[in-house]
Amino acid sequence: MKIAVILGIIYIAGINLAGFFSMGMDKQRARRGEFRISERTLFAIACLGGSVGSMIGMQVFRHKTKHKQFVYGMPVIFLIEAAVFLYLLLHHMQTKTTRTDFGMGTVLTEVIYGADGETVADGIHQLLLELENEQLSWRSDVSFVGTLNRNLAEGIPTPANETQRKWLSDSLTLCENTDGAFDITLRPLIALWGIEEDAPSVPTEEDIAQTLTKCGYENVEISTDGMVSAPEYAAMDLGAVGKGIAADEVREFLDTQDVSGAVISIGGTVLVYGSKPAGGAWQVGIRDPHGGQDAVLGVLTLREDTVVSTSGDYERYFIQDGVRYHHILDPDTGYPAQSGLSSVTVVCQDGLLSDGLSTACFVLGYPDSLPLLEKYHAEAIFVTQESDVFVTEGLESVFTLENPAYEWRKGAYDETK
Ligand code: AMP
Ligand code: MG
Repeated sequence: MKIAVILGIIYIAGINLAGFFSMGMDKQRARRGEFRISERTLFAIACLGGSVGSMIGMQVFRHKTKHKQFVYGMPVIFLIEAAVFLYLLLHHMQTKTTRTDFGMGTVLTEVIYGADGETVADGIHQLLLELENEQLSWRSDVSFVGTLNRNLAEGIPTPANETQRKWLSDSLTLCENTDGAFDITLRPLIALWGIEEDAPSVPTEEDIAQTLTKCGYENVEISTDGMVSAPEYAAMDLGAVGKGIAADEVREFLDTQDVSGAVISIGGTVLVYGSKPAGGAWQVGIRDPHGGQDAVLGVLTLREDTVVSTSGDYERYFIQDGVRYHHILDPDTGYPAQSGLSSVTVVCQDGLLSDGLSTACFVLGYPDSLPLLEKYHAEAIFVTQESDVFVTEGLESVFTLENPAYEWRKGAYDETK
């Protein structure tokens, strides 16, 4: 808490105690016929913020006075003070802090409405660094995923705590529900393409076919006592759900902070938290997948707590022999997914699912994603390579297409296109 707030609380408590006891002292002096505290002093204490204490003191010590200054003045001062206090409190709650940091291999943008946004932003930054280094990074030797993959290679089961188990089981259920279009055991294939490394290149068909035999979410087992095991050739990659997990963790953190609302953007995943001052709606810009970094496709207007995740072929790619290869792989072919989409944005309460679904839908394409989205009560915006935009029903009234280069296709989907 800011020092000014602490000093303010001490002052208000002190002046109200002064108001309370000054009434008591004055009453005692009156009884003893001693020299009274002047009415001007009593009134000044109330004016300086002690009106509540003074009024309680008047009742408790039966400090009766017919003086109009007290009979009418005190309640008026109290009302004025209450209004000022409320104004300061609301102002304090709505102080806006905007920060940009780097974490989880991407840019973090934080907009926070709350008492001490800078401290909260520091906390979020720290939380995400820890999440990356201690839990999700496959690069780290000490992270949960790093340890898991090392142990798998040595045939040793790895203990997972309750949170880690939930990450894995929610992801594995998504793998099942997509018939493997989404697969968290694709690490060997991702490594073969080297898209996250310095010199990516197109592998040979034989290498792809051989590597695909090492992938398969069905091979992962989580025992009832939380031990994770899989064949020694398997390796996991939670890259497709990492930012969503981060959004969930940030939401839990914000629940413990003095924050009335926030929009936390972690790369392509945006957490919309709490309410905007004066009950306004949050605006979340959706990137134009065919434009530059700051180009906008449209805007989502959201009021409720939610997570908006976008998967796009522009995020990470390399070009070889004039062909562009992106980072979302189709486990069926072993090549970058070619579902005709440029990006998919999924809106869903749960961060992990929002992030996972956006990757899954990118692989599945439109309209094969629709039953999956229904199953998870999630909504989505699909952008095709031909600049067509499809929006699920739940988002139709909250999405505004701003970019004239795109056409919002409403109604039946033409599969022949
Ligand atoms: P996202 O940006 O959330 O769509 O996640 C893409 C990342 O997920 C990639 O960089 C890979 O690490 C991983 N990935 C790629 N293809 C798949 C897939 N089919 N299923 C699960 N994870 C994938
Ligand atoms: Mg994803």
